[in-house]
Amino acid sequence: MGKIALLSQRLANQIAAGEVVERPASVVKELLENSLDACATRIEVDVESGGSRLMRVRDDGCGMDREDLALSLSRHATSKIVDLADLEAIGSLGFRGEALASVSSVSRLTITSKSAESEAEEAWKVEAEGQDMQPLLMPAAHQAGTTVEVRDLFFNTPARKKFLRTEKTEFTRIEETLKRLALSRFDVAFVLKHNQRVIHNLLKAATEQERQRRVALICGPAFIDNAVAIDVEGPGLRLWGWVSLPTFSRSQADLQYFYVNGRVVRDKLIAHAVKQAYRDVLFHGRHPAFVLYLELDPARVDVNVHPTKHEVRFRDSRMVHDFLFSSLHRALAEVSPGETLASHATTPTGGDRDSYSPGPDLDWGSQSSLALSDRPAPGSPVGYSASRGDVQPSRVRDQLDAYRQLNEDEEVPPLGYAIAQLHGVYILAQNRDGLIIVDMHAAHERITYERMKTACTSEELKVQPLLVPLSLAVSQGEADAAEEQQDALLNVGLGIERVADESIVVRQIPSILRHANVEQLVRDVLSDVMEYGSSERIQAHQDELLATMACHNSVRANRQLTVPEMNALLRDMEATERSGQCNHGRPTWVFLDMNQLDKLFLRGQ
Ligand code: ADP
Ligand code: MG
Repeated sequence: MGKIALLSQRLANQIAAGEVVERPASVVKELLENSLDACATRIEVDVESGGSRLMRVRDDGCGMDREDLALSLSRHATSKIVDLADLEAIGSLGFRGEALASVSSVSRLTITSKSAESEAEEAWKVEAEGQDMQPLLMPAAHQAGTTVEVRDLFFNTPARKKFLRTEKTEFTRIEETLKRLALSRFDVAFVLKHNQRVIHNLLKAATEQERQRRVALICGPAFIDNAVAIDVEGPGLRLWGWVSLPTFSRSQADLQYFYVNGRVVRDKLIAHAVKQAYRDVLFHGRHPAFVLYLELDPARVDVNVHPTKHEVRFRDSRMVHDFLFSSLHRALAEVSPGETLASHATTPTGGDRDSYSPGPDLDWGSQSSLALSDRPAPGSPVGYSASRGDVQPSRVRDQLDAYRQLNEDEEVPPLGYAIAQLHGVYILAQNRDGLIIVDMHAAHERITYERMKTACTSEELKVQPLLVPLSLAVSQGEADAAEEQQDALLNVGLGIERVADESIVVRQIPSILRHANVEQLVRDVLSDVMEYGSSERIQAHQDELLATMACHNSVRANRQLTVPEMNALLRDMEATERSGQCNHGRPTWVFLDMNQLDKLFLRGQ
């Protein structure tokens, strides 16, 4: 007897459900996409108990008649494509015809619908429950449109139910799903309720102002205040939306929304192009925030690459990449000098503003100052010394003094003594054996981090009340997180109090961070806290929180240090554990001994 047997329909659906229905949020995603495909103009989502008890999506779309309703639950049943040509130029969000079949195989599902076209007054209802794929049809009452109710998700697959996280976490994911879709369709109104409480009520947005309002409601008011609007057209392509100024960078990639022809997409090619565009204006380890829409001929992009349809494949990926990169790069470069200056002044890496002069020569963060034409011609000493004009004579003398130090007959510490600072980024130092190059920003960050860790474990973290408590407008989610995790935040020295639905007050910070940009610091910490979720996980991730905070205390790149300051940093590094790598694992210093240097110059060969 053969060993191969066809899977039963039921089992096949449950297996497929594994791909499509990962958690409550994935159900909501499929249902919302169906409503949008049905041309709904208003969609209401009701969630109970994080979605595991109930998810109900009600729309005013085209609805289904009796016949379609009966078919809608079958696998590979779709009204959206008929042949291969359709698939090659897909305009709808769904097309695989498997979502409803999959969802019904792992839940108790009811669909009530009335076709907007049908003359008849009646509406119909279909019920299916897990195993029973024989859907039950009956007359019902409903207005034109569709209501889909999904109850008891995974009731028949306990192994998968176990993987569900807390009600709160699952709901947050549902909320994120709705936000993503709501940003893709300004012409549709969305309502989201959790346990009967209205969480989002997004009106239709027709004007630019209304659209910005929706973006602010979803991404937080601070995003839109710190973003530039862009709208660029290329050959057969258009890119529009909002991108954050480099000042508004985040510690996580959690405020990034990208749409290709209205479809939510998380794609490597796109991510790469965006990252490149921000590369020379963003400090390392930071993530930009953006809401961007790419529009192009549907025939030029393949969306049928992945079951959850998050990835796409462009027919001409090189061209799309370059278009994205150059549009964004230009948009960021065109931000007026005042804005860039302001953004540098409040840059998240903190540092002492007074001790550096933000002259144009120091502005390495922007492309323009690195443009080839600005570089001195090779071998042109005049051009070179002109560009060094910002080095004060006293500093040069300091450096000469330091240089002399090594000639004395004294113990030289491992990292040696500073000789100079290179382009505001590196410290050059010499010890008995050669040259040491230190990334001062990375090194300082590491030192701060290690100090905070030690202080935290020995409960000696010194804190400092803010003379003027800082009020911040935040999203509801951020305020919730701040309130729930007040104690955990206090453990790392942050005194934060929620004062309203969407506003918090910062009263106290660790003394070591007194020069940091408190707003940016708190926003980053809250974004971490939201990511970690529960209190236990925050405990477990306390070090990461400290690392995020340490990042705000570091010597900014470009800050001119005096030789004694540089030497102090070198000594701190020697005294600090793990100071050989920055918090992100990159080296903080490298060493070239005299032999290696000699080799570079082919000496003695
Ligand atoms: P797909 O969306 O890939 O076609 P689904 O399983 O999600 O597959 O849905 C199957 C079919 O049911 C859809 O093609 C559509 O005709 C119909 N349908 C589902 N949801 C709705 C809705 N909210 N309004 C109208 N028709 C719907
Ligand atoms: Mg669908």
